[in-house]
Amino acid sequence: MTNQLLKIGILAIQGDVSEHADCLRRALKKLNTRKTLRVLVSRNRNKRLRQSRKRCPVNLSIHTEAVSRISGDIVLVKNACEIPPLDALIIPGGESTTVGKLIEMDGIANEIKAMAKKGKPILGTCTGAILLSREIVDCAEGQKSLGLIDISVRRNAFGRQRESFEAGVDFEGIGKFPGVFIRAPAIESVGKGAKAAASLGEKVVGARQGNVLALAFHPELTEDTRVHEYFLQMI
Ligand code: GLN
Repeated sequence: MTNQLLKIGILAIQGDVSEHADCLRRALKKLNTRKTLRVLVSRNRNKRLRQSRKRCPVNLSIHTEAVSRISGDIVLVKNACEIPPLDALIIPGGESTTVGKLIEMDGIANEIKAMAKKGKPILGTCTGAILLSREIVDCAEGQKSLGLIDISVRRNAFGRQRESFEAGVDFEGIGKFPGVFIRAPAIESVGKGAKAAASLGEKVVGARQGNVLALAFHPELTEDTRVHEYFLQMI
């Protein structure tokens, strides 16, 4: 059994960093449990094959599956130099004006762009989605985004903090997912390069462009680890 050690970074400047870390740990555990189950099933199948070979000695080759276990090293990223060794990165929620300025100043923005170019998966939730976008509608003066996914997002599209809410989101490939929306942006338009990945009624609340996934809601604030599992499978 081989061991695949992944380095998954969480930008730790502001926001729900520990919640993402916790959710990632639970998601890794679930993925490994499922892998182990699959291995057990395939071992039993091989056992049955061996038994049937004894009964009928034709030339049956026994297929043994190469099994790997994924373990994740979670890195709380505060400096640009911590980004190149990562296999994947999460940019959590927070306040996009503050985080945006800090990542520009510290050279983190350039490292994130380089990481995206290499095809490494990046997940942005809420503020993270705003920062990953091509265009921010209603942005603060001078606010810049990274332009890594071809979407335009409107900040605070669902209202202020007191208008926060939870609602079932339709997530492509996952199904209904409990969406937690806190001063959330909405994805107003999805360009040619990107694809809508999650919706809430008529509104697009998640989009993916290859290795970049932008979500307006907070999957880390639920018990449900399916979005983090989906992200880990993008690696
Ligand atoms: N409205 C916030 C912003 O513009 C995002 C809120 C959040 O991440 N929950 O950054």
